[in-house]
Amino acid sequence: MYLLNTNDFIDIRTNLLKWFYSNGRKWIPWKIKPDQSLPNSGESLSPYGIWIAEVMLQQTQLNVVLPYWKRWILSFPDLSTLVNTDEQSILQIWKGLGYYSRARSIHESSKILIDWVGENKVLDPKAWPIELELWMQLPGIGRTTAGSIISSAFDLPSPILDGNVKRILSRLSASKIPINKDQKRLWLLSSKLVPIHNSRNFNQALMDLGAMVCTVRNPICSLCPLQKFCMAYIKYDPMDFPKKEMKKIIPTVEIGIGLVFNDQGKLLIDQRLDSASSMPGMWEFPGGKREINESIEKTIEREINEELGIAVDVREKLLSFNHSFSHKKLHFTVHICKWKSGEPKTLASKKFLWVSADSLSEYPFPSANIKIIDALHDYISIKNSK
Ligand code: SF4
Repeated sequence: MYLLNTNDFIDIRTNLLKWFYSNGRKWIPWKIKPDQSLPNSGESLSPYGIWIAEVMLQQTQLNVVLPYWKRWILSFPDLSTLVNTDEQSILQIWKGLGYYSRARSIHESSKILIDWVGENKVLDPKAWPIELELWMQLPGIGRTTAGSIISSAFDLPSPILDGNVKRILSRLSASKIPINKDQKRLWLLSSKLVPIHNSRNFNQALMDLGAMVCTVRNPICSLCPLQKFCMAYIKYDPMDFPKKEMKKIIPTVEIGIGLVFNDQGKLLIDQRLDSASSMPGMWEFPGGKREINESIEKTIEREINEELGIAVDVREKLLSFNHSFSHKKLHFTVHICKWKSGEPKTLASKKFLWVSADSLSEYPFPSANIKIIDALHDYISIKNSK
């Protein structure tokens, strides 16, 4: 790993800002003034629009965020409007942007911010907090989002460390440490680099360089204003940085699912508890995790009995498939079942219903269940055509 010295920091700032003024994205709507010009050094911008944009930008790219942000500002132009809006209207505007907890966090934060800022001063940037610690107290706001809000809104020297910045800093110093294990040093580097004046444009320049030049694949080093400071470029191959972490082996969990029909041809579905750790309130077909040395048929029988207190006859297999999450891999095996005895009870679910297969689209199911529903419709139409 290579250490940059004080002179390097000065030159990096100068070169990067120069590059930004010729090549950077100087049109981002929440970072310009109403007359479309860039604010002067030290001039404040509306913290409201910047806060909303920065939360939208978590895990989401700028070009995706832009139309959502514009719609949001038209619907909820300021903090007072937002705080008096119900959650359903907010989710309606957010629909399609994903990670819905961010919209709920914004709504919760608006109630805290209105107390801090004051109902009558929401349009005055000077009334908004400028302390990193305060912003980080708001739900869903981490250090990099808070730093970005403060530098963008108030042009204060607050460092940021999003994915683009981590990659650039890791390459500049040719770090042998994977970025997730190198956070402390990268934060320190970002803090040393951010200038006292013009931090808004400097941080934006870093993000723009990461998005346009120092990209994950095929960085365009020939166009990079930081080339002469970049150890990954000078000594190695930039594509070898940041160093990757050894991938963890994710075990596969076997899940048995039963599509239980009663004598009237209705299908049993149940609703996950509101307290469930994942997908609370969603509907699903009963079933669960296979135990060691258990046949999948036995799993389905046992899980349905534990979940709903009924006995079923496990019949033919409908399908099996894999479904992966970032932290786990599931292998589903789905069987057609016939209800045998017992009245269903909500032993481990919020609600149960006997429904017709045609009405399944009326209930929200997790995405893994879509394959099951498609296969079930095929199964029924083949059966009916015989
Ligand atoms: Fe990234 Fe290449 Fe610039 Fe180094 S020289 S910062 S690897 S674009």
